[in-house]
Amino acid sequence: MRIERSIEGLKIGIIGSGLSGLSLAALAKRKKARVFVSDCGEPHESREQQMASLGIDFEFGGHGARLWESDLIVLSSGISPSAMPVMEAANRRIPVVGELDFVAPYLRGRLIGVTGSNGKSTTTALVGHLLEGLGEKAAAIGNIGRPLGDYADAELDFVVMELSSFQLHWASSLAVEVSIVTNLDPDHIDWHGSYEKYVAAKAKLLSMQKPGGWAVLQSRDLGFFNTVTSVRKVALGWKNDGTQTDGRIEMQESEATLWRDGIPKRLFAYESLPLLGRHNRENAAMAMAAIELLGLDIRRAEPLLGTFSALPHRCEAVTTISGVNYVDDSKGTNVAAAVTALESLPGKKIVILGGQGKGEAYEPLAEAVKRSARLALVMGTEREKIQEALQKAGFKGVIPVRDMEEAVERAHREALAGETVLLSPACTSWDAYPNYKERGKHFQRLVHAIQGGEALGNSPERT
Ligand code: ADP
Repeated sequence: MRIERSIEGLKIGIIGSGLSGLSLAALAKRKKARVFVSDCGEPHESREQQMASLGIDFEFGGHGARLWESDLIVLSSGISPSAMPVMEAANRRIPVVGELDFVAPYLRGRLIGVTGSNGKSTTTALVGHLLEGLGEKAAAIGNIGRPLGDYADAELDFVVMELSSFQLHWASSLAVEVSIVTNLDPDHIDWHGSYEKYVAAKAKLLSMQKPGGWAVLQSRDLGFFNTVTSVRKVALGWKNDGTQTDGRIEMQESEATLWRDGIPKRLFAYESLPLLGRHNRENAAMAMAAIELLGLDIRRAEPLLGTFSALPHRCEAVTTISGVNYVDDSKGTNVAAAVTALESLPGKKIVILGGQGKGEAYEPLAEAVKRSARLALVMGTEREKIQEALQKAGFKGVIPVRDMEEAVERAHREALAGETVLLSPACTSWDAYPNYKERGKHFQRLVHAIQGGEALGNSPERT
């Protein structure tokens, strides 16, 4: 459902008071709606203060009668179709919209949408960085930590949006000019109910585009988008597999090339990119292809790659100690991400795995560990499951550890010069940390402590 008309005076109920919900509430308030935020979680002081300062009414700890008086209910990012307020709103025939449909009418500028299983934030940030470097007024927003509602009515030339499958599930009217689907691997299956439904949510980004728009995809994923014939597709591949599309990104030995209408155009030489790993070359190739498809000058864009730094905790180089590289990929929270980090960074690894699982199968992880790692230090609530998968695959170097501190200590003791100690857990951090950032920061602190000659047993985390 698209919000076509003014919402002035309407009673709008917002579900969720997180970053996205607060931003939606503030937007609705600016548009002079009567806003009520409803959150089933525990009361939250700073959010309460923010809402009170904006004159927004709210409730915590459940969804009460006032919510059901709404003319329209807006879902913040991540609310599931089976969530109680969604079901109840359907019973009561109250219209429900997702975040994207609510905000889209207020976005100004040319739109670029980025989705995929892994690499969304990196690719979104990179497109934003290139556009800004080219002198355009651009913002990289969405799941990247800048909620969409904050950018309503912002005078921009370009809006680059990182979009999750949750947001896309609820969307029906977001017409981007260029879409990028970085890759498709099983993730969030629990939320969507099946892989097919997850992929269908991602495919919506393309089917909502204006006819003739461009989509940048992995060649291996093209089959998922067969039903969408209204957009022109560019397919990325490391080998030319003969796929017929409107364009093709060829990942060659030392550079990436975009072919259109039989004409090659170099996107960038890999040496221009300071990010680690082959997957980041793909992210950069997709970002550069988007720049070209938007009609901007990629010759001027290429040197800008050199000033882009890896986002924190995504294959981020921490330091080198006695010839051993330490890499923080704490954002590797699913199997596909950890497999990518293992396989695309050069050399043998000592990999730190485990945390809280997402119900994924660990066989592909075990195969990648076998190929690319010498040792695997396994921790967290998934420890036994991962250990079992690794042993079943015939991997001999499994070492169970108690926590991050023991993992780093052990990795430091075991690692040989030229190897990489890689934190890429294939799991969420929620069994031991509030989020992946805190996990990554803890890893980095421990590594720096070792470098500074400290014995880890004395670090404050142990107490
Ligand atoms: P997302 O926003 O989709 O979670 P990020 O850019 O934050 O993606 O990267 C998350 C993790 O996914 C990284 O830590 C890295 O291990 C992995 N990753 C990044 N880019 C890719 C890619 N193109 N293909 C596969 N894995 C990737």
